[in-house]
Amino acid sequence: MAELTVGDLVVDYGPVRALDGVSMRVPSGAVVAVLGANGAGKTTLLRAVSGTLRFQRGRIARGAVELDGDRLSGLAAAAVVRRGVTHVPEGRRVFARMTVEENLRAGGLGTPRRAAAEARERVRELFPVLAERSRQPAGLLSGGEQQMLAIGRALMAGPSVLLLDEPTLGLAPQMAARIAATIRAINAAGTSVLLVEQNVATALSLASYAYVLEVGGVAMEGPAAELAASDEVRRRYLGVS
Ligand code: ATP
Repeated sequence: MAELTVGDLVVDYGPVRALDGVSMRVPSGAVVAVLGANGAGKTTLLRAVSGTLRFQRGRIARGAVELDGDRLSGLAAAAVVRRGVTHVPEGRRVFARMTVEENLRAGGLGTPRRAAAEARERVRELFPVLAERSRQPAGLLSGGEQQMLAIGRALMAGPSVLLLDEPTLGLAPQMAARIAATIRAINAAGTSVLLVEQNVATALSLASYAYVLEVGGVAMEGPAAELAASDEVRRRYLGVS
């Protein structure tokens, strides 16, 4: 188990400052949610943590991301995965022409054989439907199944921290509920989760603690139960007047 910390993070896309001094903590074994409107910087935050920011021409101008005190910021994405932090990007991004099995194997590349075999077993238990469809091209799966595959692929590296970007976006309520239950199960098995989620009610039901981002900064933070009960959060994000 491992604690992820983000300290005073400043991220620029050229002249655009997307994050302006964000600090947060994902304690070992926790689910922590990041809420906020479109463009608030949620995706940028996950990309900065996973080392994929450079592919978007983003740059960490200041601050650090650390896992148990070891610096992750500055490492390449593959090195961050080896340290135990994996990212399920928004929009799932499975390899559509590859089979389900090939997608999963790709997630386990670079993972020691025994650990990969254990992870494969865990993914099989979590997502029986992926085993049934293992030889089909991933592009033929439904949106919810592709999300399961994207999560399964990330689990193949045996992460201690999972970064999830909008895992229920665009899914029917029943499928969204299944994904939420899966996130709970993954966490119960010992993986910490940093969850970016449009659906505030879902996010607050999964998380123990949450941060609200606004234009690149933390506007509010607190235990999820307190945020869920806060009039301001209810009015602004839960559509309760
Ligand atoms: P969404 O839910 O829409 O993805 P978000 O909260 O995840 O929103 P980000 O995608 O992190 O927000 O974007 C934060 C800010 O950075 C926005 O102003 C956005 O326009 C800008 N931005 C994001 N990606 C880039 C990029 N590749 N180049 C330039 N600006 C970018």
